[in-house]
Parts: sequence; structure tokens; C-alpha cells
Amino acid sequence: MNLDNLEKVLEKEPKYRLKQAKDAVFKNFISDWSEATFFAKDLRDKLNKECPLKIEADVLVSKKPFGSAQGGGSVKARIKLRDGLMIETVLMRHIDNRNTVCVSSQVGCPLGCLFCATGKMGFKKNLTSDEIIEQVIFFNRYLKKITLSEAEGLFQRVTNVTYMGMGEPFLNYENVLKSIRILNDKEYFNIGARSISVSTAGIIEGIKKLSQEGLQINLAISLHAPNDKLRKELMPIDKKYPLEAVLKAVDDYINKTKRKVMFEYVLIKGVNDSDEQAMELAKIMNKKLYFVNLILYNATGIFKASDTKRVEGFKRVLGKEKINFSQRYRFGDDIQAACGQFATNTKSPQ
Ligand code: SAH
Ligand code: SF4
Repeated sequence: MNLDNLEKVLEKEPKYRLKQAKDAVFKNFISDWSEATFFAKDLRDKLNKECPLKIEADVLVSKKPFGSAQGGGSVKARIKLRDGLMIETVLMRHIDNRNTVCVSSQVGCPLGCLFCATGKMGFKKNLTSDEIIEQVIFFNRYLKKITLSEAEGLFQRVTNVTYMGMGEPFLNYENVLKSIRILNDKEYFNIGARSISVSTAGIIEGIKKLSQEGLQINLAISLHAPNDKLRKELMPIDKKYPLEAVLKAVDDYINKTKRKVMFEYVLIKGVNDSDEQAMELAKIMNKKLYFVNLILYNATGIFKASDTKRVEGFKRVLGKEKINFSQRYRFGDDIQAACGQFATNTKSPQ
């Protein structure tokens, strides 16, 4: 897809034509200009040539039943960018018609967290805001195809976006924020700020900047360890941004925005899942607008997931200490689309 020439192609047309074209792409999610029947055939052909809409991707659908407690209904797309690099993005369909897309913000990631598949790829590049948006457009088209009801012309859309795919969003701050504003734009995607979440490994400058944007989006911090000694081992970025400094930035963010902040904690067998570590975690998470999201570890090679008994034990300690917490569903682990399993090989889509 490439809309760089859109304004140029339509420059001799009346003004409202550009709006019509944008509506077709960003509201009605056409995948070929031939669908834009309000344009003359010549113009449609020209648009197809100069502003192609095709998004090259291959798609993998989870075999788990849609709506099941195991988090079925997830779909992974591997999108080929114009420069040939590949990114992964996932759609999670919920039974209440919510559709969440987990977008990538970088190709690879420079932060190299030990437990993360993306981290192992190294860093390739920052995505442009168009490349971020393209992932949401792709799944809007997909949803349109599978849910369009002929009678009413209605179809399901992407309702929630999480920046939890490949990459560290706050190392690509400007493009990420630009994409958020576009997704939030009432004229187009109209995705509410409260339905958009950004997850960071703890880039303090990003947390500070976000607090000044006046946006009601959700912030999540990848914590994964209750102290610097362990966190440094799992997440090298902790050396630059230690826990105390990250939590201080979060407190400032909360003071300013009055928003809740989520702390993600992946439970890794024998590494960060003991009762003592739960207690240590409870001590630093004991604040009103903090809440902890426990994540089951998804296999990427080195570590193992905590077993169910240990997860229950860990939760018991947090419960006793009156910590707000929840446990995340495992979405799409059968299609390598769960958190931290995003990594692309160099194979092109068919
Ligand atoms: N770079 C950002 C956002 C992308 S990662 C960040 O780290 O926050 C999205 C979430 O998945 C993060 O909380 C990340 O720590 C977590 N994650 C990474 N690897 C994982 C794995 N193997 N299993 C489960 N969660 C993982
Ligand atoms: Fe990067 Fe996040 Fe993976 Fe760490 S967990 S390597 S910050 S994508």
C-alpha cells in the first residue's frame, strides 16, 4: 500500500474527491480502487497504478475455538513492508464484538530482553506511522471480509489497539504518537483513547512525554522482576533505567493524568515466581492506581513457564497483600502470536 501520491493524482479533481478517497480507504476499508465506484473507471485505474492499496501478507488463524477460555479467535498476519522487511501483527477477536489488534512499532527491538523472541532478532528499523496504521487497516479489511452482513452493509471493525507487538514503542516515540492520533481521529478509525494501550520496557523519557500529551490512553510497564538485581539480568535496559527511577516516572505520570497504570509481570519458572518474590513485588506495587497483570510465559527457547500450582501460589500472596492484579489470557500461542513470540524470518509471503 502506498498513498504518497494520492493528493497529486487527485489534484485536478474537486476538493471533496480527496475526502471521498480517504473515506473509502480509512472508513470503508476497500482493498482495491475498483471498489470505489463513485470514481470514473480511468481514475480508478490510475489510482490502482499510482496509489496501490494491496497489503502483502500471509495469515495464520488459530485453531483454538473462537470464544473459548483459551483465547481462540486470534489471527496472525506477517506483513511485508515496501522495503521488503517483515512485521507481525495479531488480531484477537472477543465474543462481545471487541476486536483488538496488537501492533508492532519497530522491526526487531534493540533492548534484547532475555525472554523475548523479538529481542533476539536485534534491531532493524523504526516503523513509520503509516506502517503502524497499515497493520490496523489490514485487520479492518480482514474483519470486513468475514463479518460483512449483506442486508445491512455493516461489518465489525478494530475497536482496540495495543502497542505490544514487535519493538519498543517509546524508542519510536514520534511515529507511535502520530499513529495513535490518527487511530483516535473521529473522522477515520475513531478508536477511543481509552481503547489504546502502549507498553514500554521502562523508557523514562517516553513516560514523561506521554504524561504531557493530554491523551487518555493506557500505559503499561513491563516489570517482570521485583528488584534490579534480577531485572537487570532479564532486561538489560534496567541498567540504564533502574526500577526506582521508572516507578518515580510512573508516579509523576499518575499525578499528572490520574490514570491507572498496568505493570506486566511474566511468570517464568524458577526465575521470578517464588512466594518471596511475590512478596517483594507486593511491596513495590502497593499503590492505589497501580495494577499488576500476570502473564503466562510463552515459550521462546531459554525459559519455561511457571506451572499452574506455582501461579496460584504467587497469586495467593498478591491477594493476601491486597494488590490489584489480573491474569492475562493466553491468546494465539498455537500460532506463535502470543506476547514475546513475535519474530520474523526472512521468508516472503506467498
Ligand atoms: N517493548 C514493549 C512492548 C512489546 S512486548 C515492552 O517490552 O513492554 C509486549 C509484552 O510482552 C511485554 O510485557 C513483554 O515483556 C511481554 N513478553 C515478552 N516476551 C514474552 C514471552 N516470551 N512470554 C510472555 N510475554 C512476553
Ligand atoms: Fe523489546 Fe519489549 Fe521484547 Fe524487551 S520485551 S526485547 S523491550 S519487545
